[in-house]
Amino acid sequence: MAYLTQLDYVKYVCSCGQLKPITNLYFCRHCLKIRCGFCICHEVDSHYCANCLENMPSSEARLKKNRCSSCFDCPSCFHTLSTRATFAQPRQDPAAGDAKVENKQAKKMYYLSCFNCRWTSRDVGIPDQPVASGGWPERTNPYTARINQLLDYYKAIAQQEKQEKLDRERKKFAIRGKYITLTDKTGLTGAMARNIAGLPSSESSSSAIANFVPSVASAEVEELPEDYHLREVNLKQVSTMAQRLAAPEWQPGDVARLQPVARPLSVKRSQRCRDCDHNLTKPEYNPGSIKFKIELLAFYHVPEVKIISHESVKAGQVADLLLKVTNPTAHEMTLRILRPADSAEEVPAPPEDQEPRSIEKSLEKSLNLEKDTSWSKVIERKPEMPTVSQICVPEVTLTLAQRDDAAEYDDDPQHETSDIILWRKSNKLALRLKVTTDPTAEVGKPAQVAFRLQYSYRNTVPPSAQSVQHRDHTLNTTVILDLGSVCE
Ligand SMILES: [Zn+2]
Ligand SMILES: [Zn+2]
Ligand SMILES: [Zn+2]
Ligand SMILES: [Zn+2]
Repeated sequence: MAYLTQLDYVKYVCSCGQLKPITNLYFCRHCLKIRCGFCICHEVDSHYCANCLENMPSSEARLKKNRCSSCFDCPSCFHTLSTRATFAQPRQDPAAGDAKVENKQAKKMYYLSCFNCRWTSRDVGIPDQPVASGGWPERTNPYTARINQLLDYYKAIAQQEKQEKLDRERKKFAIRGKYITLTDKTGLTGAMARNIAGLPSSESSSSAIANFVPSVASAEVEELPEDYHLREVNLKQVSTMAQRLAAPEWQPGDVARLQPVARPLSVKRSQRCRDCDHNLTKPEYNPGSIKFKIELLAFYHVPEVKIISHESVKAGQVADLLLKVTNPTAHEMTLRILRPADSAEEVPAPPEDQEPRSIEKSLEKSLNLEKDTSWSKVIERKPEMPTVSQICVPEVTLTLAQRDDAAEYDDDPQHETSDIILWRKSNKLALRLKVTTDPTAEVGKPAQVAFRLQYSYRNTVPPSAQSVQHRDHTLNTTVILDLGSVCE
């Protein structure tokens, strides 16, 4: 009976129905619900280079094509390249006298080198640079003009479609006779609104569509060289698929044409609850910091369940199950273990915010810009509860002390003689539970058991003017344990 890797064996049911280990879950203190990466909204906070830790606003990152201008990755093994310096001997000028040459200092020159695979920028004939950072020759994409043409064309089409949709809606409302146009309300003209939104004017977009030349497929293909199938292949000179795709514009087939790859930027992202729009995580802006300004992880709010050990699950028999439950909060908690099918007490929905939307927001909405809200509806599903094995729910309410960091140093847990509680140690509790398995359970089938954890939760969010929040809540979470497979 080994201590199990808990992530794979203890899964919590998220509010959206996904099964996730507690370390992958968030807890919204405003909706009082567990959230997972699937049912929250991810936002990019800042762009930064993970190598030199330079950060930049998103407009600059877009301009630099989301790549750092001073850091490079090895085109051969993708390890970060390092800058190395050498002393270049001053070139002997035959016209000048000997004395003049001796006065010249050896000049420091820099090249890029990979400490992992020993690739250097000299291998592919990139000249050494006189400065340590930057100044590396930039290659221009041979298809820049065409790509820009395509981008302009698609932007114009998107713009046209938005305009058509807006016109259609305007007509629809005009028929009903209730519609006051946004321009009446705010005194903005359509052109001004477009200007605010940073969209091209309708004239320029229609000209972009009119002037666009579509690509035409051609039946004529360049012939392969005569000796193409006869030439001997030297695999050391052929680049791999990954190496080629690291530079999608050039896709060099020959290793001699590999070039340093500008390092892609990383992002810091913040995460929001999709229901109430509150932040669940928000990192510190400084890219060197790994701290968070807001960090609402389920791990800090929801009792953690771990399997200490269990007997093997057999058809028609009762197996012992030892669980450890931890209270991560700074408040005492009462706990009950219930059947998953028991009707969960509904958490009261947070009051709808009746705040009138600002003009910018309604403008943004009516122009139907970037903010598309269709994604905000999360498809919730009900996971299938295991029914073959069941936990015998104890008819007791347990209390769990608050987290006490000093208690970590205590040696001995307090052993209890209770039927259910095996030991207590500060905010931790070991429970002895029984699992009954159906006599018809098939051998080799997964043995899973589900239960509902009902726990008291004290909300520490300071009550705001609009919402009167209760401090104490009774919350429910369903946990599914994996107890291996049904044994003979
Ligand atoms: Zn929320
Ligand atoms: Zn979820
Ligand atoms: Zn960098
Ligand atoms: Zn390398």
